[in-house]
Amino acid sequence: MVAMKSRVAWRISGIYVGFGEAWIVVSSMLVWLEVGQPPSLASFLEMGKGSIFVLATAVLLFAMLRRWEGEIHQRDEELRRSEARYRLLHESLRDGFVQITMDGRFLDCNAVYCDMLGYTAADLLKLNYLDLTPPRWHGPEGVIIAKQVMVRGYSDVYEKEYCRKNGTIFPVELRTILVRDDTGAPLSMYAIVRDISERRTQEARAALVREQLIHAGRVQELGQVSAGIAHELNQPLAAMQNYAATAKRWIERGDAVAASEAIAKTCEQAKRAGDIIQRMRSFVEKRDTNKTRDDVNAIIREATALGLIGAKSIGIEARYNLAPDLPLVIADRVQIEQVLVNLLHNAMDAMAEGPQRILTLSSSASASAVEIIVSDTGKGIPATVVDSLFQPFVTTKQSGMGIGLAISKSIIEAHGGEIFAEPNPGGGTRFCVRLPPAPPLCEA
Ligand code: ADP
Repeated sequence: MVAMKSRVAWRISGIYVGFGEAWIVVSSMLVWLEVGQPPSLASFLEMGKGSIFVLATAVLLFAMLRRWEGEIHQRDEELRRSEARYRLLHESLRDGFVQITMDGRFLDCNAVYCDMLGYTAADLLKLNYLDLTPPRWHGPEGVIIAKQVMVRGYSDVYEKEYCRKNGTIFPVELRTILVRDDTGAPLSMYAIVRDISERRTQEARAALVREQLIHAGRVQELGQVSAGIAHELNQPLAAMQNYAATAKRWIERGDAVAASEAIAKTCEQAKRAGDIIQRMRSFVEKRDTNKTRDDVNAIIREATALGLIGAKSIGIEARYNLAPDLPLVIADRVQIEQVLVNLLHNAMDAMAEGPQRILTLSSSASASAVEIIVSDTGKGIPATVVDSLFQPFVTTKQSGMGIGLAISKSIIEAHGGEIFAEPNPGGGTRFCVRLPPAPPLCEA
């Protein structure tokens, strides 16, 4: 190592000594030739002095060169070590690393990045970054680069898609960072990229389980009022029977006008029964989440048509205090109905044995939320469950499953809202649901 290190110093010093000594000898010989006399002792002494000078300066030169070489070697060594550290980090990253020029040509990438995309590093160096990005992401990613990377030097973590060598498209999450040269001009960009396909699959699975749970909650909710539904259907069916019998009688008596009126009333009742069945069907139907801009008061009316079935027969008085002209909300109507039906059933249960049975539904709006309140005059929330009300499988009912409020909370939170319970000032409980108002529609 030392021999290697001083090789250049030896060479240059050797050349210097060679040239110096040759110069002394040649110049002395020229002097002797010019004078035409044999060299004197004094001229040999002069030559000796010159040689000593050359040798002494050569030693100095050698020492300087060795020192210079040592510094360069040390710098090389540091650079090599830092490069090795960088390589190690680069290759041991569990995320992909990619560096590109400002116009998208690949400069560098690690093995994870290559594996993710199914290309070799050599393949990638011939491509442009845009070749791997599906066209629909070019615009949005361009905006991120212009507004974040070029402005503050790095982007927030963002999501996009990549196209593998085999043509499949997969989702990634990345942060892009700008590299500038010594003058501050943009030189290149690098990104740390994570394949989030697995996460997406898990999210989709979790969403499916959640949808199934919400659906199970709806079926259970409807199951709880099956007796009430039978009773509710019985009324139009009995009325239809009566009107049909009346129509038959009028026909037998030859009064076509009266018969026609009775038949029209039969049809009305048939429609009423059909509507109840239709409402139940759409409530329990299996469906994907479908959020639209919707009117909270309309949702309340739908929910009460189903949730208050059987309420009158147990002496419950429903009151409404709905504010007009509420801002719209972005909601999955059936899911919000499900929350309200659950709150209505709980309120009815809580008042079932009480002396006063008033159920009030109110709606109102503030700057940040549209609010729905379901209040009852029941026995209040039992102290044993008050702190765990929205947790699954918490119930004080003999045949309760304790999932209604847990599902309601998950639904409302998935709508960006909140749900909570508090004592009703007049006795009983009030449940408050707050949903964010829908953002204004963009002008076309
Ligand atoms: P379940 O109705 O099956 O018990 P929920 O999650 O809907 O499940 O309700 C959990 C518990 O919260 C109920 O068992 C009851 O004790 C309490 N609760 C809910 N709503 C009310 C209410 N309006 N008044 C009093 N207690 C209530």
